[in-house]
Amino acid sequence: MSSIAQEVARRRTFGIISHPDAGKTTLTEKLLYFSGAIQMAGTVKGKKTGKFATSDWMEIEKQRGISVASSVMQFDYREHVINLLDTPGHKDFSEDTYRVLTAVDSALMVIDAAKGVEEQTIKLLNVCRLRATPIVTFMNKYDREVRDSLELLDEVEDVLKIQCAPITWPIGMGKTFRGVYHILNDEILLFSPGEDKNVDDVEVIKGIDNPRLDELFPLEIEQTRMELELVRGASHPFDLQAFLAGTQTPVFFGSAINNFGVREILNALIDWAPAPQHRDATARDVKPDEEKFSGFVFKIQANMDPKHRDRIAFLRVCSGKFERGMKMKHLRLDRDVAANSVVTFMASSREQVEEAYAGDIIGVPNHGNIQIGDSFSEGEKLAFTGIPYFAPELFRTVRIKNPLKVKQLLKGLQQLGEEGAVQVFKPLSGADMILGAVGVLQYEVVKSRLENEYGVDAVFENCVIHSARWVSCEDSRMLADFEKNLILNLARDAADNLTYLAPNRVNLQLAEERWPKVRFHATREHS
Ligand code: GDP
Repeated sequence: MSSIAQEVARRRTFGIISHPDAGKTTLTEKLLYFSGAIQMAGTVKGKKTGKFATSDWMEIEKQRGISVASSVMQFDYREHVINLLDTPGHKDFSEDTYRVLTAVDSALMVIDAAKGVEEQTIKLLNVCRLRATPIVTFMNKYDREVRDSLELLDEVEDVLKIQCAPITWPIGMGKTFRGVYHILNDEILLFSPGEDKNVDDVEVIKGIDNPRLDELFPLEIEQTRMELELVRGASHPFDLQAFLAGTQTPVFFGSAINNFGVREILNALIDWAPAPQHRDATARDVKPDEEKFSGFVFKIQANMDPKHRDRIAFLRVCSGKFERGMKMKHLRLDRDVAANSVVTFMASSREQVEEAYAGDIIGVPNHGNIQIGDSFSEGEKLAFTGIPYFAPELFRTVRIKNPLKVKQLLKGLQQLGEEGAVQVFKPLSGADMILGAVGVLQYEVVKSRLENEYGVDAVFENCVIHSARWVSCEDSRMLADFEKNLILNLARDAADNLTYLAPNRVNLQLAEERWPKVRFHATREHS
């Protein structure tokens, strides 16, 4: 095996998906704690310790206690390099989350076992399905009264349309939570509460029929043995191929806050989850162990460090070896970029990258010349595909109080549009710019950034737009005709794509019926 292939084989790049409050942050913290990347629990979010985490980067975020931006953390575990991509769980930032999921090879789904499958989980899982991303499931909060475990599996299978293969099984719950039975290893891991417990403190008892279990907790173990009969009959045995194909999920049970069940997940990710995969780059498929470097940008984040006013482009390495100081070609601009100050995202700090391989994420500082979806290589013309834009559901027009600032406003909007903070539409007729978003909170972010970074005091006003569709038509004459007729409803987005802005659902339907050869798209890929 080449040294590049070896490096690729020991990498795992995954994201955590969950509905807000299911325990994603807590679990992230424990994963880092577990791997030794952080010394004590409580450094990811500042809630308890007063420290601010790597992912806390904006004032709004601090005020609201939510995580607006996804962050990337790299750590080592069992001689593997793990890249954990955090995804904002807040529903207003789902667009960003979707894009992060294009850069992972597997996902960890966290479910609050008291609540079951929630709205955001469904949406995120649908995004994972687009690329058949393998998913590991963690049923969290067993130290509380939760729902019946079999019922939870049923719900996952029914609602998320994915087979469940329980790997562990909970023994009791809430006050009588005793631990989990590891079905594949035939051993019981005993639960003891405590936030800062050491990993190796977990006591293990071999064999589900071990009489010690009847001495320790006769009622719960009896119940568990009965449940296991049902589980064996009703659920699926673990099948690695089905997991890799995204049709089956191994399920683990535990309690993130008590650091219980976390090691089993990490092991599953290392033992079963795929190493970085090949990627479609339009011209051809790119394999991760190729000699030459390539990658694409899936996210842009501003002001991560208030001392630096630059923006960081998050680039997923897709092949080859990245070395500090190397020249990489920005393919859209056909220009070399010297990669001297590229950063990596170690769990505790921003550090200079010396080298990186497929699956790793590197941060490229820039002043606005990198957009989401941009591809980089050592020169070969590649264009990685699959980074989605979703049609916005909320619309506002923008006005400014001081007309002398129009230029700054336009510049700010263009840059924020390129970053994907908000979608910006310029009507073909009419002067007011239109902003499209998936969630209301995006407007607050944009407003505060326009003020702080561009010195523009902008006012957003409601407008009568119900939905947006990107339009295309193979017949260019017909498209021109369409443009002329519907000019009042048409705009161009930040990447100059023609977009139809419909005032209501009926109008959109009518337009679709009247122009059967014009295609209306609810998503578009970065081009
Ligand atoms: P996120 O919104 O998904 O990042 O969720 P957090 O990690 O912030 O957790 C949401 C709440 O659930 C917090 O109050 C956590 O302390 C709590 N929580 C997380 N894991 C557990 C658990 O295993 N048991 C219990 N009882 N609470 C938990």
